[in-house]
Amino acid sequence: MPQVVPSFERIGEENAFAVLARASALAEQGRDIVNLGIGQPDMPTPPHIVEAGIKALRDGHHGYTPAIGITPLREAVARDIQRRHRVEVSPDSVMIVPGGKVTMFMAILMFGAPGVEILYPDPGFPIYRSMIAFTGATPVPVPIREENGFAFSAEETLSLVTERTRLLIVNSPANPTGGVTPKAEIDALVEGLAAYPDIAVLSDEIYGTMTYDGQAHHSLLAYEGIRDRLIYLDGASKTYAMTGWRLGWSVWPKPFYDAARKLAVNSHSCVNAATQWAGIAALDGPQDCVAAMVAEFDRRRSLVVEGLNALPNVSCITPKGAFYAFPNITETGWRAKTLAKALLEEAGVAVIGGPDFGVYGEGYLRLSYANSPENITRALERMKTFLARTS
Ligand code: PLP
Repeated sequence: MPQVVPSFERIGEENAFAVLARASALAEQGRDIVNLGIGQPDMPTPPHIVEAGIKALRDGHHGYTPAIGITPLREAVARDIQRRHRVEVSPDSVMIVPGGKVTMFMAILMFGAPGVEILYPDPGFPIYRSMIAFTGATPVPVPIREENGFAFSAEETLSLVTERTRLLIVNSPANPTGGVTPKAEIDALVEGLAAYPDIAVLSDEIYGTMTYDGQAHHSLLAYEGIRDRLIYLDGASKTYAMTGWRLGWSVWPKPFYDAARKLAVNSHSCVNAATQWAGIAALDGPQDCVAAMVAEFDRRRSLVVEGLNALPNVSCITPKGAFYAFPNITETGWRAKTLAKALLEEAGVAVIGGPDFGVYGEGYLRLSYANSPENITRALERMKTFLARTS
């Protein structure tokens, strides 16, 4: 019997997909399930973007493109970065990839190896840890704490650096907590990193357009001091409700760019051509669709935070970004994953247990409020009844 190599014993998963599968299976059995588990906008892709994709297909964009992406899209990404972050980047440093995940996959492959340590946020997007472990590197969790508003702490991050650290992953606005790291903390981190020139930084800014309460998003691209070792990750999935199109982009310092290009050539070859043309329409087209979506998420955020704080023994700080709430459920007496499972099976509400995002996620649940206000209200009512009965 052929055996896959042992590194596959270390690769993980994203439990949100397993929860989605279970929720769908229950729904197929006739159960009424409200799914606040999966992290994707519930709105369709804006019509002008869809039309651009259709036009590209009609215009005959059916073949391979360069592995780094088509030039007009790389130029559009450079313009987007200029518009949103006020930073000049060369389109030659931009790579088009099939989703935000691919940038992290490439970056972690590039720096991860046995003997190396990689710092990543915990709770954080589960693929960071999974991929780090896959490469044989040691995953070193950086605790993301509720008392810091789920922002990362520069001091705590820097305290975990050793001579083996080769990559630091940061994520703001953050999944699963909705935390947004304030500028002062990023300033302190970048300042501290000056002492460690051998550490590359992967900044996952996929939720960069989604901040609330006047909180600004501060891109690490704006910090000249680390540009020569910064990998910037962004994409269309969340901002333009395009999760299924598979479109992401990244900015790489010159020495890493060619390695990323080779990984693309060796794996996906390129992002599908029509999606790339749709991406140009997304980035160069009107941005009011983004503003409208963020305003809608903002309304739902109030609904979810208010509702969660009204649940017995649950408290939830107000998330400042992304579209997730991360309520603290320690006082309910439940373990987070057991509660998430019971909520799905017994109350028909799909949420994700905090431990699916790391060891520091125990005591929390993740709810995505990228769902209709009616569904959010129904979910909260069901949770209230369930917790009143069982806590
Ligand atoms: N980074 C974070 C923090 C995410 O939450 C996600 C998706 O949930 C991604 C990256 C991946 O996005 P994509 O669907 O574009 O691969």
